[in-house]
Amino acid sequence: MAVTQRGDDVISPIVSIEVIPVSARGPDTDTMDTSSTTVVVRLTDADGRQGIGEADAPPSTIKAFLEMQTEHTWSQTIAQMLLGMDPVETGANWEKLYLGTLYPGRRGLGIHALSAVDIAMHDLAGKQLGLPVYKLLGGARRTDLFPYCTIYPGEARPDRPLSDLIAESERQIDVALGLGFQAVKLELIYGSMCRDSDLVEIVRQAKLQLGDRASLALDFGYRWTNAGDARQTLRRLIDFDIAFAEAPLQHDDLHGHARLAAHGDIKICGAEFATTRWEIREWIEVGKVHVVQPDITRCGGFTEMRRIADLCEMHGVELIPHGWKTGILVAASSHFHATHAACSTFEFLSPAVFSTILRKELTHPEAEVKNGRLPLPQGPGLGVSLNESAVAKFLVQEV
Ligand code: MG
Repeated sequence: MAVTQRGDDVISPIVSIEVIPVSARGPDTDTMDTSSTTVVVRLTDADGRQGIGEADAPPSTIKAFLEMQTEHTWSQTIAQMLLGMDPVETGANWEKLYLGTLYPGRRGLGIHALSAVDIAMHDLAGKQLGLPVYKLLGGARRTDLFPYCTIYPGEARPDRPLSDLIAESERQIDVALGLGFQAVKLELIYGSMCRDSDLVEIVRQAKLQLGDRASLALDFGYRWTNAGDARQTLRRLIDFDIAFAEAPLQHDDLHGHARLAAHGDIKICGAEFATTRWEIREWIEVGKVHVVQPDITRCGGFTEMRRIADLCEMHGVELIPHGWKTGILVAASSHFHATHAACSTFEFLSPAVFSTILRKELTHPEAEVKNGRLPLPQGPGLGVSLNESAVAKFLVQEV
């Protein structure tokens, strides 16, 4: 059933799509741990080869979106549109799917769904061509990958004193340093549990612990509602040589970000929830941030991330992808980071640092971090496979 013949390679069309919601979320699961559930999209070609992707969005909504009934030309069933597509034509396919879902898609959820499909399509194309995804994206500009490790002590709850959270952060920093990470990001999502002045002290202690062994970035988790308040604290952190300050203000307050970034105290970043290059353009032109952090499983997949990276390069903005999902996203971010100069590093959810079941069990193999570096991923495709026993164990039957 070949549609195209290229040398010895036979490219065959997509014949089926599966949408697989999985959850390892128990009653005690941290409510901010977005890696405790995921939705995998698996595409199969006429020769039985398969590609996988995932979306960082509520699994039931992604399933519903991909399988919705066709209403009209701009509101079509993606699952139906995919059938017969040549997976190697990733860009053209993306455009068809985007235009076919303009009414309900375009931003937000529809693009999250498209992200999973696009990642799966790249994985499948790589399998068909016998190539790793980074080669499909233009090739490796770096062979040594440089992720940063996020330190997250768990959610701030009334039954967990601040001292416990700080102690857990310190423990995780020790683990990260033991693994050789040379860049860490500290989550400071403490809400009203602590004052701004407490945050400064927490950062001071973290710097003492890290010494010269690793750089430190900070995530404020949308702490402030105006740039003035945010700046008062950021000014006090200047001497700590902070790599970047993430999410200081509300996600949609782009003008506030611009005011904060104009002071130039510390690199300001955001846009972890943003979809498509159009939204990132607003972050760059209106928000004037130094760093944008879209996520490949949300922003539109590899196809859109390449456009975003080009946009960043043109504007001298750094691209540091967000990542808090499973091994599928880790592989995707690794391939992408290898290919684009604007993508200086990427967020790495280490299962050795933060205990997360799906991250640990859903895919294999797990690349080894050595001296804070990951090796260039090997293909074909993403180079990771689903662990079928984990899929069976965590599959959500009814969504
Ligand atoms: Mg974040």
